[in-house]
Amino acid sequence: MQKVIIIGSGPAGLLLAHYLLSRGNYQVEIYESRLDPRLAEQSNQRTFPIALQSRGLNAIEQIVGLKVALAKKGVWSQGILIHRKQGKPRQINRKMPTLLIDRNQLNLVLLENLLEKHSRELVTVKFDCSCVDINLESHEAILDHNNGERFTAKYDRLVGADGVRSQVREVLSARGDIQCQQDFIPDVYKSLHVPRIAPDKTVELAGNYLHTSTLGKGIRLVLAPQPDDWLHGTLIFSPDNNPLENCTTDEEVLAYFQENTPFIKPVMRLEDVAVLRQNPVSKILTVKCDRMHVGDRILLVGDGAHAVSPSIGQGCNASLQDAQVFSQCLARYEDKWEEALPAFTAERLSDVHALRELSDYTFPRSKPMMLEFVFRLTIGKKLRPWFPLLTNPLPMELIMESELPYSEVLKQSQGWINRVRESMQN
Ligand SMILES: Cc1cc2nc3c(=O)[nH]c(=O)nc-3n(C[C@H](O)[C@H](O)[C@H](O)COP(=O)(O)OP(=O)(O)OC[C@H]3O[C@@H](n4cnc5c(N)ncnc54)[C@H](O)[C@@H]3O)c2cc1C
Repeated sequence: MQKVIIIGSGPAGLLLAHYLLSRGNYQVEIYESRLDPRLAEQSNQRTFPIALQSRGLNAIEQIVGLKVALAKKGVWSQGILIHRKQGKPRQINRKMPTLLIDRNQLNLVLLENLLEKHSRELVTVKFDCSCVDINLESHEAILDHNNGERFTAKYDRLVGADGVRSQVREVLSARGDIQCQQDFIPDVYKSLHVPRIAPDKTVELAGNYLHTSTLGKGIRLVLAPQPDDWLHGTLIFSPDNNPLENCTTDEEVLAYFQENTPFIKPVMRLEDVAVLRQNPVSKILTVKCDRMHVGDRILLVGDGAHAVSPSIGQGCNASLQDAQVFSQCLARYEDKWEEALPAFTAERLSDVHALRELSDYTFPRSKPMMLEFVFRLTIGKKLRPWFPLLTNPLPMELIMESELPYSEVLKQSQGWINRVRESMQN
């Protein structure tokens, strides 16, 4: 029995724990810096919806019962409604449905299911404990309990699944074991929650589509329906263009939304605006590493190894896929980590680097390319059977409607990606 310590109980760490335990020869200890989500009041302040599509869902489906449990806490979406200031929204249907689920709910289901399925001899999750260092020579993680107590935990293998600000990655990078680059994306966001149904029940926004809208000056709104008839979403803007900055009252903010994105007018209330104003403005950091393992004992998965911009909604999908791909490597090399780890880096790195390119350059920022983008996603798609060469699929379609690896999606859509990159540089 090998003892694996996982740092971080986000989607990547928890799904990897499911996979390891399903192999039957691991004992898993998870350390998480946050409070136990089953005991703590779930804050809506920093949560946001996650869109899980085929890549993430396939990874989840391999673990018996997980997809059904998650589906109960989420909503299946058939596509996107792009709302405009006037007229009917543009509708983009997807061949493969997407599961929209709140990030806290996703974590909670992965955790509860893990603890229900496996005994405490095989898996424990210790909350309120932050990894502060690793001793690679003695194979020990050094942890701080939030009560101030410091302790160590011995491992046979250690997994850094501690997200974009990974301490495991920091330790490895300070030792020169791993090279990584970190950048902030140009946009910031605020979480937003509004009811889906108007208080007087006269208007109901679709419960099976993602709602999006542009509010001018690069400001975007994305809202995902949730099972409790709420829409959870994000308001995205550039830091020097915060639309709420000059509003001094809730009434002014409400008026801003009513003016610039009228579809939300019937459902948005003053109390929703008050919460939105209190929510922090969050920055988004991206990470690119030159490897996903160190030596024959340490693995990095999820955002810790490859955090990307959420623009195409793939960060979590890719993090879940890491767990599946690593488990396949373990199966191929009969749980010999010294062989499975380099094989994982060799197989996965090109895909996560491709995902970075796709996340940065799938959505254009210039107006002419934005118009072309919407045209090709709507009318171009319908013309494709007659004009296949003129209307080849955009990266977004290949991501959402195929299961191609990210490196293959990038290869097939390199022309578009290069054009967007050039338009941004100009
Ligand atoms: C606004 C927004 C919208 C998004 N939408 C989507 C989407 O639609 N689809 C999609 O696929 N992805 C989306 N993402 C990306 C997605 O949230 C991440 O890719 C995903 O959460 C990564 O999972 P993870 O387990 O690697 O990291 P996290 O979810 O960050 O989990 C890491 C865990 O490690 C813990 N931790 C951190 N440091 C320590 C430490 N030192 N010791 C112990 N524990 C520690 C943290 O508390 C956390 O619980 C979105 C991201 C944002 C910001």
